[in-house]
Amino acid sequence: MNIETVKRIIAPFSGLLPVEKLIASSGHRFILPFWHAVSDVPLPHLSQLYRVLAISEFERDLDFLLKNYKPASVEEVSGLAITNGKSEQNLFFPSFDDGMAECYHVIAPILKKKGIQAAFFINPAFVDNKMLFHRLKSSLLLNSITQIKHTGIEASEKLLQQKFPSKSIHQFLRQAAFTDHLLLDQIAEIFGIDFELFLKQKQPYMNLQQIKELQKDGFLIGAHGMDHREFFISSEEEMMAQISESINFLIQKINPPIKTFAFPFTDFKVPNSVFEKANTDGLWNMSFGTAGIKDETVQNHLQRIPMESGVSKDGRKIIRTEYIWYYLKSVFGKNKVRR
Ligand SMILES: [Zn+2]
Repeated sequence: MNIETVKRIIAPFSGLLPVEKLIASSGHRFILPFWHAVSDVPLPHLSQLYRVLAISEFERDLDFLLKNYKPASVEEVSGLAITNGKSEQNLFFPSFDDGMAECYHVIAPILKKKGIQAAFFINPAFVDNKMLFHRLKSSLLLNSITQIKHTGIEASEKLLQQKFPSKSIHQFLRQAAFTDHLLLDQIAEIFGIDFELFLKQKQPYMNLQQIKELQKDGFLIGAHGMDHREFFISSEEEMMAQISESINFLIQKINPPIKTFAFPFTDFKVPNSVFEKANTDGLWNMSFGTAGIKDETVQNHLQRIPMESGVSKDGRKIIRTEYIWYYLKSVFGKNKVRR
């Protein structure tokens, strides 16, 4: 049974415990929920990857956060990174990954209306819709395959045989990594899907001008790797290049007041030496992971809570479940991030 399945079992009962009790007993008064996009219209390029919240669901979750926590300012977050997120008061700081267009059109206006500061983590390769993230390619293909019965399935599985002899097209698309870009393009061709045309017509990402506007509005813009490749299959040199090049892009284009980096996918399997080198070289002021509520030991590093997981459709339950899971792990001494 994986962790998400366990959390899914806990989630329906999580409402039985008052959130203030959960916060107080964990000692984690500062939380960092994160999302990618919010939309009332279906987004086929994201729908196979995570649950995209409708505007009313997102506002409901923000109102729950506002009721129980104070929105943290960017300056407060900087200060908290030094103490590994240990806070005296209940605080929250939202963030949004991958630089999707909805960040500018939907999310930022809601945050401004509610007086909430936040961070947006950007992949330079996607800015201005120059390139499509390989996982988004997978989502588009999965949707097209499930919608229509395609003769292309046979042809694409034949193509897959050369690299993955035992994988079905669905298995491949669910697991496709950065190194499979070419194969994804070839399969798209079989299904008559034009990724370049999709980028041009749908404009799924923000452009540089919109990112600049977000920064002008007081939001923090951070880096998220150049092209969102998986760090857990990358060499240490590749990781350092992804970190420094994406941060340098931001310095050159928008010069953010604080240099931040959110690890793409997860910081799991990122060696301590990478954190040490980035900190010693002054590449960032702080960095972020996606491990939920955990005790972090690495300097200037904060863990965030994924809010679009399959744990629950209700963000309030996701947060409560995170606390319960933290408590259960602490019983077994597993609530610390180990590297
Ligand atoms: Zn991401």
